[in-house]
Amino acid sequence: MIYNSTRNNEQKAEAAYAIAHGISKEGGLFVPQTIPALTNEDFKALKGMNYVDRAKYILGRFLTDFTEEELEYCAKGAYLGTFDNDQPAPLKALDDQINVLELWHGPTCAFKDLALQILPYLLTTSSKKVGDGKKTVILVATSGDTGKAALEGFKDVPGTEIMVFYPNDGVSAMQQLQMNTQKGENVYVCAINGNFDDAQTGVKTIFTNDDIKNLLAENNMDFSSANSINWGRLAPQIIYYVSAYLDLMDKGEDYLKDGFNVVVPTGNFGNILAAYYARQMGAPIKKLICASNNNNVLSDFLKTGTYDRNRDFFTTISPSMDILISSNLERMLYELTGHNDKQVAAWQDALKNDGKYTVTEDVLAKLKDLFFGGYCSEENTSKTIKNVYEKYGYLIDTHTAVAVSVYEDYKAETGDNRPTVIASTASPYKFANSVLEALGETVPEDEFDIAEKLSAITNTEIPAPIAALRTAEIRFNNVCEKDDMNKVVLNHLGITF
Ligand SMILES: *Cc1c(COP(=O)(O)O)cnc(C)c1O
Repeated sequence: MIYNSTRNNEQKAEAAYAIAHGISKEGGLFVPQTIPALTNEDFKALKGMNYVDRAKYILGRFLTDFTEEELEYCAKGAYLGTFDNDQPAPLKALDDQINVLELWHGPTCAFKDLALQILPYLLTTSSKKVGDGKKTVILVATSGDTGKAALEGFKDVPGTEIMVFYPNDGVSAMQQLQMNTQKGENVYVCAINGNFDDAQTGVKTIFTNDDIKNLLAENNMDFSSANSINWGRLAPQIIYYVSAYLDLMDKGEDYLKDGFNVVVPTGNFGNILAAYYARQMGAPIKKLICASNNNNVLSDFLKTGTYDRNRDFFTTISPSMDILISSNLERMLYELTGHNDKQVAAWQDALKNDGKYTVTEDVLAKLKDLFFGGYCSEENTSKTIKNVYEKYGYLIDTHTAVAVSVYEDYKAETGDNRPTVIASTASPYKFANSVLEALGETVPEDEFDIAEKLSAITNTEIPAPIAALRTAEIRFNNVCEKDDMNKVVLNHLGITF
């Protein structure tokens, strides 16, 4: 399988190169030249497999330069013994129609674990293949969940150093605590005075700065990315959508006769893009329902064809979706323009320079055919948590609530009654404060009293990784200005400049 850059079709690389480098030289994202198709025979074979083998099978189609042994090493390392039930992505039916894909059974209680438990294996395997023997420096911009999941995945992985930047006032107290207590000898955590987009722009700027890259090279180091711009992050996310389809088959042939919809609470557009790829591989997914919070740049885009980030940025109770620049949309546009690298590059330039661009009528029509975009206010997010709990006795977090609310809007608008998979992206205990408040309860001062009260009221268990934070040592307490991120990185790496 050959990978191109979304901004340069002349750039051709194998998966190992794409994963080891994270981003293409001119700033584009790596994309597979073709999407491999799964036949009915493939699906039949996959049906009988556990998650590790499903992962191997599906990744094998994309990472054709990996050996069977390498794939096995990566999939087993990532998914055996690391999730709380050895079933990384269980599907839970709420009723005949709604199936919740629980993606928060990993070590950091958010869906990012599904990709970030395997990325270190993919990355170190890739680096060996590309064979430059350099130390890999992982830079991460996070709206909360990626940072912790990346730290957990990369801690003490030989040959790597990981540095995480998060917006100072843009993550939940629990998320902040999770990151600042991170163990490991090769980890570093820093808050920035700015929002997530500032952090992401800072990281991208460092990645593409030739002076800094040269400094690293002189010191036998190289940057890579654990953000979903890295193909090694995105590919593993395809697995659970195919897996959800296989699990839905248990309900009988009739159940899936008209296919199913997928609803994804969306920020950087990585998770929903993985659902799109699963669809292109052959999973019978009909509508891709893209749910935003008050930062509704995507739902406007899907309605009008104009992507315009010139708008107020809101800090919400679903902070992992507080994003105005959805990086992975670039890959979607590359697909929908028939791999038109010049066009995609021009739009990304306009986004950088003017903060907006407008796609062609043709692309907009295709987007509307594939996607439904909606958004959910803060008030409705809270109401949805309460309603779902009262109706089904099922507790959801603030991000999943955004998805459920937009799904209800979609159904009211279209009358589409197909079976639906709702991606549940975080444990409610990661956002216990907002969840407890949504249930109409008074919220104690202390984070752990909040979790305990939530547990007592709803008769659900506090996930072990969150309970363990109570006694964990705080290891980081760093804050920097957004314009100083490059200095912080070089200083930490001991590089003089
Ligand atoms: C990251 C995240 C999202 C957004 O996912 P994208 O792939 O960035 O669109 C949604 N919910 C939670 C809990 C997250 O951590």
